[in-house]
Amino acid sequence: MPSNMKTCPTCLRRRPLVDFPAGGGGLPTHPLCRPCVKEGVKRRLSSRIRSRRQSKKACAQCGQLLPMALFHWIPASRCHHSYCRPCHAAYMAERYRRLKAGKAF
Ligand SMILES: [Zn+2]
Ligand SMILES: [Zn+2]
Repeated sequence: MPSNMKTCPTCLRRRPLVDFPAGGGGLPTHPLCRPCVKEGVKRRLSSRIRSRRQSKKACAQCGQLLPMALFHWIPASRCHHSYCRPCHAAYMAERYRRLKAGKAF
C-alpha cells in the first residue's frame, strides 16, 4: 500500500506527498519538501550574490582592486593568479623579451 506521507531528510518532518515538488529524472517526488527546496534555492542564490560581491582582488603588481574575471585562474593551485591579466601580460611580455634578449646575446 503506497504511503502518502514522506519524511524530508533536511528538516526531518513527516509531510504529505503534496508538500513535495515533482521530482525530475523519473522520481515521483523531489526528495526534499517544498520549504526545504525553497530554502535551498534561496541559500544558493544568496551565496551566489555574496560571492559576486566579494569577487574582487587586489593585484600584487599594480595594487588595483579588480574583479576576479581579470585574474587568471590556476587550476593546479586552485586559486587565482596574484597579478591581474594586464600586469600578467606585461610580466610575460617582459619575461619573453628578456629571454629573447638573453638568447640573442
Ligand atoms: Zn524539509
Ligand atoms: Zn595589475
